[in-house]
Amino acid sequence: MSNASKESDEKVIRVKPPIVVRDFASLIGLKPFKLISELMETGIFASMNQSIEESIASKIAEKHGFKLEIHHRGDAPLEVEPKKSKPLLDEDDPKLLKPRPPICCIMGHVDHGKTTLLDTLRKTNIVKSEAGGITQHVGAYQLEHKDNKITFIDTPGHSAFSKMRSRGANVTDITILVVAADDGFKPQTLEALKLAKQANNALIVAINKIDAKGANIDEVKKQMQDKGIASEDWGGETLTVEISALKSLNIDTLLDAIQLQAEMLELKSNPNANPQGTIIESQLELGRGAVSSVIVEKGTLKCGDALVSGESYCRIKSMMNENGDIIQSAPPSTPLKILGWSEVPKSGEKFNKEKNEKIAKNLSEIEKNKRKISKSKDFVNSEGKKESTSVEDLFAAISNQKNKSLRLIVKSDVNGSLEALISGLQSIESKKINLDIISEGVGNITKTDVTLAGTSDAFILGFNVKLDSGVQSLAKHESVTIIQHNIIYELLNEVEDSMVSLLETEKIEKKVGEAEVRQVFVISKGRKVAGCMVTDGLISRSSKVRLVRSGKLIYEGQLETLRRFKDDAKEVRSGFECGINIKGCNDYLEGDLLECLQIEEKKPSL
Ligand code: GDP
Repeated sequence: MSNASKESDEKVIRVKPPIVVRDFASLIGLKPFKLISELMETGIFASMNQSIEESIASKIAEKHGFKLEIHHRGDAPLEVEPKKSKPLLDEDDPKLLKPRPPICCIMGHVDHGKTTLLDTLRKTNIVKSEAGGITQHVGAYQLEHKDNKITFIDTPGHSAFSKMRSRGANVTDITILVVAADDGFKPQTLEALKLAKQANNALIVAINKIDAKGANIDEVKKQMQDKGIASEDWGGETLTVEISALKSLNIDTLLDAIQLQAEMLELKSNPNANPQGTIIESQLELGRGAVSSVIVEKGTLKCGDALVSGESYCRIKSMMNENGDIIQSAPPSTPLKILGWSEVPKSGEKFNKEKNEKIAKNLSEIEKNKRKISKSKDFVNSEGKKESTSVEDLFAAISNQKNKSLRLIVKSDVNGSLEALISGLQSIESKKINLDIISEGVGNITKTDVTLAGTSDAFILGFNVKLDSGVQSLAKHESVTIIQHNIIYELLNEVEDSMVSLLETEKIEKKVGEAEVRQVFVISKGRKVAGCMVTDGLISRSSKVRLVRSGKLIYEGQLETLRRFKDDAKEVRSGFECGINIKGCNDYLEGDLLECLQIEEKKPSL
């Protein structure tokens, strides 16, 4: 199909077989993914690089308003038209784009006031509820400011969530970096700044706590200048607002700044495009099944739409905003809750609307198989690599096998926190203990988890989850340890402690003293004794001693006799003379050094 051309006026497409899915899709202005799903609808399963029959291609072309002219070998040559600059049916055509609300996230160091700011914003300007539903945790909310909407992502600010946050930053347009005026830039402020840059976000700095004692706004601005993000009033370009989240000071000015920034960014999206968006978080809810919070990025979602997101699919049963109001349609930048997923979709994953539930289901199954294959490929690769690796790798692999393992079953309340927890666990580094997550899931700790833990000698970790009834007693019976916490880093700390407890205490030798041989005495049967002066620390009996001559180790052994004059001594301190004999050694010279060693037990480290 190399020489293909199209005459958009007559809507005729001329192609040469084979008609390959990827090329054909671009000729009729469809994304390959869309074409694949349309083909699936007619029962044809073709991948991007496969070709399709002419009759099928003609039918699809017709459906999209084109006439297909197939040019076989021996036919008159194709006229090659100059390439059109724009593909036909492009849903991103600038003419179709409409302004959309900005999506903002609030980042910054712990305790600098992110949560307080999110609460203050929510309280003052939230879009009013129409039906008075029950407030929903959507992971994001929208508020209205001067007749314009602004969307805020409501993610927690702890560093263990940085993975989720970095994903969050990818759906966002503007990062509001909160810096406390009484504390200035801190490690997490810098980390947030880095994430914002990586996500290509516009930046607004909110200098918070201006009401606090010790607030020093100029110091923060100086730090901003040092970091290359000088504030506008210091000759830079960063919009900066001085606020008090606690006292609600200058909150309107902050919202003005957000709107100004949004105007400058000219944020637009096509509300009539095929809907697309991102899963913010998801969970299993009692009586509701798999539920997800999402943000629409393109198109307008409607109840009943069929969606696919990675390995899960859905026919939207119900859509809700953060007030619990049922909504019928959700245009770009709307945060909402969706009910009706086949299984819990992963946070940070994209979703797309498909023609119908069947296609969505098929696509999710294809994705599932693809991921399974790629996982097993990874395995084959690493196995294959082992055969051709160096001796060092082999030793590393062997020592890895010798390592002890802490096996874990991980349960969490929502998918987002489960992922954060797992990435936190994976970030615990240890050369001595392997961390093996044998099972993970969302929901309470069940008896099945305990049975699995019992048979596989694993611990159960629970974050923000409860125990099903009977779990406690079963765990006791099976001697299964359950570690539960509502704070991720506490949970991670406990896991670290458990890993350490699997290690044996380390024994290290410590030099506690040194003596110099001043004279060598020969006693009965040629046996020698070293007459020494303790020059440093102390020499104690029942210690290990090293005999060093001109910087070289001559002998190492247990101290046999230690005498002060004629008497046995327990220890001899620096500045005193003594007679020393090392077990199994009879070779002392004047000027030799004797180092006294003691064994210390050290708490093992990972
Ligand atoms: P986060 O960890 O960044 O979410 O910080 P929080 O919102 O939990 O705030 C940490 C502490 O700072 C709390 O005790 C707040 O009451 C306090 N705080 C937040 N904003 C302000 C503010 O504008 N002024 C003062 N004085 N205290 C604030």
